Amino acid sequence: MDDRALRERIAGDMPRAIDELERLVRIPSMGHPGYDPANVRASAETTRDILNEAGVTDARLLELDGGHPAVFGEIPGPDGAPTVLLYAHHDVQPEGPIEEWDTPPFEPVVKDGRMYGRGAADDKSGIVVHAAAIRALLADGRPPVSIKVVVEGEEECSTEHLPQLVQGNADLLRADVAVIADGGNYRTGVPTLNSSIRGVTDIVVQVRVLPRAQHSGSYGGPIPDAITALARIIASLHHDDGSVAIEGLQRFEWTGMQIPEDEFREESGVLDQVELIGAGTLSDRLLAGPAVAVLGFDAPAIAGSSNQIVPFARARVSLRIAPGDDPVAARQALVDHLRSHAPWGVEVTFEGTLGFEAGHGHLVDTTRPASRAAMDALARAYGREAIEMGSGGSIPLVPMLTQTFPGIEILIWGAMDERSFIHSVNESVELSEVERITLAEALFLRNLGGVSEEAAARLER
Ligand SMILES: [Zn+2]
Repeated sequence: MDDRALRERIAGDMPRAIDELERLVRIPSMGHPGYDPANVRASAETTRDILNEAGVTDARLLELDGGHPAVFGEIPGPDGAPTVLLYAHHDVQPEGPIEEWDTPPFEPVVKDGRMYGRGAADDKSGIVVHAAAIRALLADGRPPVSIKVVVEGEEECSTEHLPQLVQGNADLLRADVAVIADGGNYRTGVPTLNSSIRGVTDIVVQVRVLPRAQHSGSYGGPIPDAITALARIIASLHHDDGSVAIEGLQRFEWTGMQIPEDEFREESGVLDQVELIGAGTLSDRLLAGPAVAVLGFDAPAIAGSSNQIVPFARARVSLRIAPGDDPVAARQALVDHLRSHAPWGVEVTFEGTLGFEAGHGHLVDTTRPASRAAMDALARAYGREAIEMGSGGSIPLVPMLTQTFPGIEILIWGAMDERSFIHSVNESVELSEVERITLAEALFLRNLGGVSEEAAARLER
């Protein structure tokens, strides 16, 4: 099957893929507490049906104790062929402020070549890409490689059951290569292999100065309030130029593509007068260095506040770390920093367990054969050279896979682009990107199946 025939076959199959994406987007599969878990189960069942109809005849739900179900299935390939694990997730982020959506989040609408709806990009597009790529390959009979598919059901809401999903099903999931279709292109139409992800951890810090609130007239002056003390601690996390001041964190110079500042500003919507903080190139700061941010703050609300010295305040501090940095050590460095910068002897305590949530980043070795084959497949599918681009975000599954299956090659790509607004309102996916990534995936699997040891050696050179 040559490239052109595969391209035409996939183009002809797109109406079906779009129909499947609509079926999935109609299901409000939020897994967060407070949402009906039956919807996540329904999206798992629809995912199973779609995979089943695509030819993954043993597709089934993988139940997790106390968690939302994943979906798994496999199609054995020729003897000795590599095994590829295709990954996506079927749960979605909450819809957010409903009044800010131009069209209802769970009623998919196609406009100017894009499908709008929660999960249309992140990550229901990934499910559809895998299904369509499998259909395209199975039309010729047996697949060129052994294919396993796992579609997670709580990527957006929890990492609690990730060890159970991966380590608990290690025999099912074991593979030579994992294709994570939960990424995307740097820009629409620019084929991109996502070559790194940062790690992430966080901690809740509490400052206390009094057992209970006291009248600020009787005691204010000598006794500091907890908010002021905590604000000083938080202020110490950055140097004056905005670079992260926590000692002991790793950073390196990013040698891949440089992100232009004007594009970055426009895409983020940062206010014109706001300076970009930190040191080094934008890519250094975004992809190869740490970032610290306060995610939440507990203190009395303004409504109902009175003239009292606030006895305690809490902040949730998030720390993203460079790929390769150790999250446990980094989190300890954050704790040490917060403790040692507490002013006036205030009491500082921490909450939060060091579970898998203290996630590792990952740097893809793009010189390995599967990465090279993926770059080649992207270039063929898009008709232009593919780029390698890091991601500032984190995918906890990736370090879990590399820890469980030493030597596994990880590829991250997907149909998302810079206009997908994942996790935000008006999420969308460009349907032509769904088609092209499907083609890239089918070409990749076909080519990988043809990669003999000799060809692999050629790719290594
Ligand atoms: Zn995702």
